[in-house]
Amino acid sequence: MVKAIRRLTVRISLPPEISALNDVIMNLRWVWHEPARALFESIDPQLWRACGHNPIRLLGEVSADRLTALAADEHFKRMVDGSAADLRDYLDDRGWYGAANDKATDAGTPLPRQIAYFSPEFGITEVLPQYSGGLGILAGDHLKAASDLGVPIIGVGLLYGAGYFAQSLSADGGQRETYPHHDPDGMPLTKMIDAAGDPVLISIDLPEDQVLHAQVWRAQVGRVPLLLLDSDIEANSAALRTVTDRLYGGGKDHRIVQELLLGVGGVRAIRAYCAVTGTAAPEVYHTNEGHAGFQGLERIRELMTGRGLRFDEALQAVRTSTVFTTHTPVPAGIDRFEKSLLIDVLRDDRALPGVPIDQIVALGDEADPAVFNMAHMGFGLAARANGVSQLHGDVSRDMFNSLWPGFDRGEVPIGSVTNGVHAATWVAPQVFDLARRTAGDRPVGFDLIEQVPARELWELRNDLRDGLVSDVRRRVFASSLQRGMTAAELGWTSSVFDPNVLTIGFARRVPSYKRLTLMLRDPERLRALLLHPDHPVQIVLAGKSHPDDGGGKELIRQMVRFADDPEIRHRIVFLPDYDIEMARELYAGCDVWLNNPLRPLEACGTSGMKSALNGGLNLSIRDGWWDEMYDGRNGWEIPTADGVEDPDRRDDLEATALYDLLEREVAPLFYAAGDDAVPTGWVDMVRHTIASLGPKVIATRMLNDYVRALYAPSALAARAAERDDFAQAKALAAWCNKVRAAWPTVRVAFAESSSDDADHGLGSHLNVRAEVHLAGLSPDDVLVQVVYGKPDDDNELRVPAYAQMQPVGGDGDDHWYAADVVLDRQGAFGYTVRILPQNAALASSADLGLVSTA
Ligand SMILES: *Cc1c(COP(=O)(O)O)cnc(C)c1O
Repeated sequence: MVKAIRRLTVRISLPPEISALNDVIMNLRWVWHEPARALFESIDPQLWRACGHNPIRLLGEVSADRLTALAADEHFKRMVDGSAADLRDYLDDRGWYGAANDKATDAGTPLPRQIAYFSPEFGITEVLPQYSGGLGILAGDHLKAASDLGVPIIGVGLLYGAGYFAQSLSADGGQRETYPHHDPDGMPLTKMIDAAGDPVLISIDLPEDQVLHAQVWRAQVGRVPLLLLDSDIEANSAALRTVTDRLYGGGKDHRIVQELLLGVGGVRAIRAYCAVTGTAAPEVYHTNEGHAGFQGLERIRELMTGRGLRFDEALQAVRTSTVFTTHTPVPAGIDRFEKSLLIDVLRDDRALPGVPIDQIVALGDEADPAVFNMAHMGFGLAARANGVSQLHGDVSRDMFNSLWPGFDRGEVPIGSVTNGVHAATWVAPQVFDLARRTAGDRPVGFDLIEQVPARELWELRNDLRDGLVSDVRRRVFASSLQRGMTAAELGWTSSVFDPNVLTIGFARRVPSYKRLTLMLRDPERLRALLLHPDHPVQIVLAGKSHPDDGGGKELIRQMVRFADDPEIRHRIVFLPDYDIEMARELYAGCDVWLNNPLRPLEACGTSGMKSALNGGLNLSIRDGWWDEMYDGRNGWEIPTADGVEDPDRRDDLEATALYDLLEREVAPLFYAAGDDAVPTGWVDMVRHTIASLGPKVIATRMLNDYVRALYAPSALAARAAERDDFAQAKALAAWCNKVRAAWPTVRVAFAESSSDDADHGLGSHLNVRAEVHLAGLSPDDVLVQVVYGKPDDDNELRVPAYAQMQPVGGDGDDHWYAADVVLDRQGAFGYTVRILPQNAALASSADLGLVSTA
């Protein structure tokens, strides 16, 4: 057989009667708009599935006769026109943001005109396989929610020729990876062209006279454009064509060029996009994880060459308009390079001409002097930063405390915005149908779930589980064939899973901290749960391991081998090639969504949110989002053995807790049906889950939070920084230099106190006075504070309070300050005095990482 070295897709032209279908296909809103999907499906239901729900492939493969027939079909034509009109209405609506911006504008503080959102991966649909896991799915949901709300975002990423990878299983249960090439012409993408109709080419100069070029594909996600850079073009050398070959593939030297393209090339792509389309330039730049960090350096370069700013001035201007989101407390998850590698890529002043390389390198300093840390640069280039759940915010403040030395962890300027999920993408159509039926002519809302009769809710869950069981059977059959079995020996796959058995799902990437195999700690106990005579459970598992992660692949092998046992294979399955399509089936059909990470390493986790929106109950370690949203009645908490040092023992304890919960609480509740066959206790929990979690886990809540807490303040700060030829950014840079130079000799000379009550009674006032030396700085440059509270045995103030001291006089460089503190708690009391830099243009007084404590 001859193998084609390249495949391409010939796009068809539709008969004019139904040409509007093209508009509906090319805007990815169909991904979350069921009527449009139903329309595609009606063209040819079998082909629709065979084409992997890709409407472009569908039209490429449907017969000409069928198209001609459809073009003559009045009903179909009306459906097409209706869909196109509905899309136009959606695109024309200014949404929530339009109204919010009117209000903000009246108040003199308009919301950002435009926001750029960078991410190394985007999970929007299985048809665009440009994601590996939660980070990408989150980015996709971010864009979709922005589109729904009318938030003006431009997404920026890379188009990877082979995506992440396709996973299958070998006969012995090992993970096999293949890298099928995804032809951009076969996907809903448009090439960006200039006014003359030529493809726009982005370029980055590299050492030794090399130039990296990229073309730019645009995916239109509702109202939001997503620009994807693609290096696989003839203008590039053979080696540079492979820069965007795979997501998270290749060695560090490969990854650093990818990230250069994402960051530097991404900014250049935005500039080209804005020029070509007449779109306003972004006022805020949001980087989803550290990989896109070079975007800040490119913007510094622009300001240095275009506006004549010095590096430190440009840095201030860029920081004010940048938001950085950190996504992982797992050290291996942090993007790091050898400094020598970075210096090598940037050498000869080619990629970022004019930006001093020593200044760049310093931004990524970390404990290891040879290593450049992209997360550290992320914080350095952003005045505002956040983690992705409250707990993760806390963990991040601790983890990155060293970047703000001298500050308590609670003061580290990293906030949190808890992730959310895009309901219209992840909620099964049957759930929406029920919601609409219940709402009648009222608006659909989560509170309406209270009015749905128990029987109806239970029937919905049964229906969804039923659908999953069919999917599981089909997938197990296909996977078994792929593993080398023949159809003749696969009769058993038609009775895999039982539509009436409690169904538990566990699907996600397979890094070790997520503990895919925790349930295998005691295989006999797991078997007993699966085969329980009255209360059996069935478990569906899925997830890809990074191809270089041998440990993860071994976990998959163990799991598959366990599930291969003929005694239990009807109750536990591992489905290969986890993707968005499978994910939707699992979230809809599973009764229980299991998550057992090693706390606190799950930054947020979002799969459980998607399950909850479909009425699945979470059974999870109190980590990530579950730590803040579990309320005792909306699912179960697997108790953690925090503090148990021995990892084996900890796994044993937590696995035992999991088995106990399943055996004693979860399964009995599921099977406790009354005479009417409805398990009311279970249904009540489903109801409460949807009502209580629904409004909190949706991505529109998340977007709201980002706009309010991060985007709007960033835009205001950025406007102030750039006014009058960047006067404020320049002044701030000069001020920072002055403060940094003076700081080593800024100090608290002495502090003393007297009380209005010699016995220090409860409620009495303590008058604290201090003398500070400001090394030439003025009192306006600093904040002097009393730090006070209950001291521990080492006199550490664990949970301090702060009171601002007022200047009360001075002599030359000696300044006197005073403050009154109320002794409002009995017991031990301690205080100290400290000095911080203060400038209204700083996002936080911890920003410079400078503090001088008595
Ligand atoms: C939601 C989702 C994830 C994220 O799962 P976690 O719970 O965050 O681990 C990963 N992959 C796919 C396909 C998803 O839809």
